[in-house]
Amino acid sequence: MTQSELSQIFDTVNFGLVVFDRDMAIRHWNRWMAMHSGIPAARIVGQPVLDFFPQLNTASFNKNCKSVLTFGNFAFFSQKLHRFLFPFKPDSSFGSRFDMMQQSCSMGPLRSKDNCISGIFLIVQDVTELASYEQKLVEMNTKDALTGVYNRRFLESRLKDECTRQQRYLRPLSLIMIDIDFFKKVNDTYGHQGGDLILQSVAGKAASVIRKTDFFARYGGEEFCCLLPETGAEAAETVAENLRVHIQEMENRFDDKPIKVTISLGISTLVADDSPDTLLKRADDALYQAKHAGRNRFVRI
Ligand code: GH3
Ligand code: MG
Ligand code: MG
Repeated sequence: MTQSELSQIFDTVNFGLVVFDRDMAIRHWNRWMAMHSGIPAARIVGQPVLDFFPQLNTASFNKNCKSVLTFGNFAFFSQKLHRFLFPFKPDSSFGSRFDMMQQSCSMGPLRSKDNCISGIFLIVQDVTELASYEQKLVEMNTKDALTGVYNRRFLESRLKDECTRQQRYLRPLSLIMIDIDFFKKVNDTYGHQGGDLILQSVAGKAASVIRKTDFFARYGGEEFCCLLPETGAEAAETVAENLRVHIQEMENRFDDKPIKVTISLGISTLVADDSPDTLLKRADDALYQAKHAGRNRFVRI
């Protein structure tokens, strides 16, 4: 195949193709790269790539280039690890999820006739669409659709992991079960839409009140659960009281009418022979006691 024939292929493929020489000056810049970078081949060919893309000057990129040039190895830059090499804007249809085009890149050696490594080729694949579907799938599997907080399945799998970890390292772990008081009345008075709005605001408020390392999940209808790693009994009581007060003071409006709600909370703290089920059961029993003691309070067992 002639050079011109090869160029025709390189300029129509739906991925980026860059060739560097041993000094990292650009020898080839296909049309895809020109289109997404806004830099035409005529301007960039012959120039050091780092002059145009200084962000490539990272330990990992340099190490991989060296390994290709020295040993003729191949290298892969996974989107999961690096997100992208070249800072390009994504296709507008996926722009809302990612502010940069997500890329998977691979590089390898170019050998001259005497088998010496004369340069590096780099292939840039736009995987924004795939990454966006993957992110959506993960969200659908782990988050509750109505409130946006974690779902029960995610909580149960975290609870299992955390129980094993905290017991192995003898670290504290607490669990809070939360139930909205007289929620049926909210539905009866304001309809399910009013009820849904309350579920959303209670979840949103609670998730914003707890620490980043805690997990807040919707456990069922109007029941929520908060998993607190590295948290003993006393600290869990402080978290519970803080949640209770925040929810009690929350101002909700539906159809221009104010709706106030309170929550009851049950706390359990991990002991040596606990399983996820026994920890959950104690929190649930504590919640039952909180309800019977008059609601809008926490009980710890
Ligand atoms: P208590 O103080 O004893 O907890 O009283 P309650 O009325 O909150 O108790 P109960 O658990 O009997 O009622 C829960 C209600 O939550 C019943 C159900 O109709 C409602 N619910 C469950 N899931 C949803 C939902 O997704 N949206 C709405 N709007 N309501 C829901
Ligand atoms: Mg309930
Ligand atoms: Mg309730």
